[in-house]
Amino acid sequence: MGGNMDKDWEVLVVGAGPAGSGAAAAAAEGGCKTLLIDRKKEIGTPVQCGEVVGESLVRQLGLKLPPQAIATVHDHTRFILDRRLMIVSKEPYWRSIALERKIFDKLLAARAAEAGASVQADTRLVDVEMRDGRVVAATLMHRGKEAVVHPKVVIAADGVHSTMARLMDLTLYPDDTMAKGIEYEMVAKKKLPNGMQIFLEPEVGLGYGWIIPKGPRRANVGLGVIGMEDTRRSTILDWASGNPIVSEYFDLEKVLEVKSGDAPLPGFLGGPVHGNVLFAGDAAGQTLAFVGEGIMPSFACGQGAGAVAAASVRMRSRKKLECYDQAVKSMMGEELEKGAALKDAILGTWANTSIPEGDRTMLCGLIMSESIFPDQTEAVLPLLSQPTARIAKMMREGIEKRRMQAKISVLRHR
Ligand SMILES: Cc1cc2nc3c(=O)[nH]c(=O)nc-3n(C[C@H](O)[C@H](O)[C@H](O)COP(=O)(O)OP(=O)(O)OC[C@H]3O[C@@H](n4cnc5c(N)ncnc54)[C@H](O)[C@@H]3O)c2cc1C
Repeated sequence: MGGNMDKDWEVLVVGAGPAGSGAAAAAAEGGCKTLLIDRKKEIGTPVQCGEVVGESLVRQLGLKLPPQAIATVHDHTRFILDRRLMIVSKEPYWRSIALERKIFDKLLAARAAEAGASVQADTRLVDVEMRDGRVVAATLMHRGKEAVVHPKVVIAADGVHSTMARLMDLTLYPDDTMAKGIEYEMVAKKKLPNGMQIFLEPEVGLGYGWIIPKGPRRANVGLGVIGMEDTRRSTILDWASGNPIVSEYFDLEKVLEVKSGDAPLPGFLGGPVHGNVLFAGDAAGQTLAFVGEGIMPSFACGQGAGAVAAASVRMRSRKKLECYDQAVKSMMGEELEKGAALKDAILGTWANTSIPEGDRTMLCGLIMSESIFPDQTEAVLPLLSQPTARIAKMMREGIEKRRMQAKISVLRHR
């Protein structure tokens, strides 16, 4: 491959998504000769994402979002549960920012480059040589030409179907802990509300549908479902045309982009280290598992991996790599653990087939929006077959008691 690819790299970062760019910037800032590669010809493209981040997480992590990467800012989220109940939440987590991820990912990689990392698009990891559980050589491929590098530490930030995990013969989480997503970016028939809309209903199954505005009349409309098999146009069309709210805004006549992909939801696995390889982001299942939000957690955990890698190289200490797990826990542990607990509560509720499907989706939505805590589901259960107004009344009282910025109303659909 020639050129600077043959340098004596200390840290190799595979994958230039949020995890990899966060990792490469931190490793370079820590003084390491760092190489960041991505198999994509253009970093950030194609997009496989709803492109939304919770405002509170961005603030908590202190990430300065590049202004060019912000599509719009939402001031609330609406949950539409079984087409019967609407919760409007203005809680900090549910005020969100819609990104242009193509621009966001590319600019994060640019920041890594500015921090001193070498960045190479259109370059893929194809093989590794292992000795005593450690990667001693990595083969990279760029337009048919190979280069072999010998990094001291590797950060595998290569996404949900991690090449590095496959080459190392590792399964970090099983396939049945993934949701499939299909999403269309579309132009709406009329002005959209300035907030996300999240739909939980039997027509969607174990997962949720969404409208994520990227402007007054432009939005990502999608479905993320565990066990979904079909991710064709008809999947979105059937759901969008059957849902009274979605069909009010969209008819699939103005489609700008089609996006699809898998989202890992294994729950909290910490910061996995195997030999001299640190797994970060989707490769390590570092998402808020109850919703699949992975952009900010991946970026934060990637940064942690990069900082630990740099400390290990600087101190010539292999043992130092074990600090990665602790770094993840102190940065994102609370959120990732809470996300995993909410996901478990949703899965447990969904598995309870003695509850009618409509009621189950409503209950899952009440858990997801944190209008009830998982241990309150028993109290709500007897109300579910009753008129929705009684549930709304109970929720309203709970929300007022907890001083939540949320409002509940009964819808007439269904
Ligand atoms: C349909 C859908 C909607 C989503 N919506 C949201 C959302 O709204 N908000 C949110 O926060 N999260 C969302 N997510 C999750 C989010 O997209 C991921 O959690 C996030 O992108 C993870 O970042 P990452 O850097 O770990 O991985 P990625 O962003 O997947 O980046 C991995 C990179 O590795 C590269 N790569 C892979 N293999 C190799 C190789 N062999 N050699 C070189 N490079 C390689 C890939 O090209 C890729 O660029 C969604 C996911 C899906 C599927």
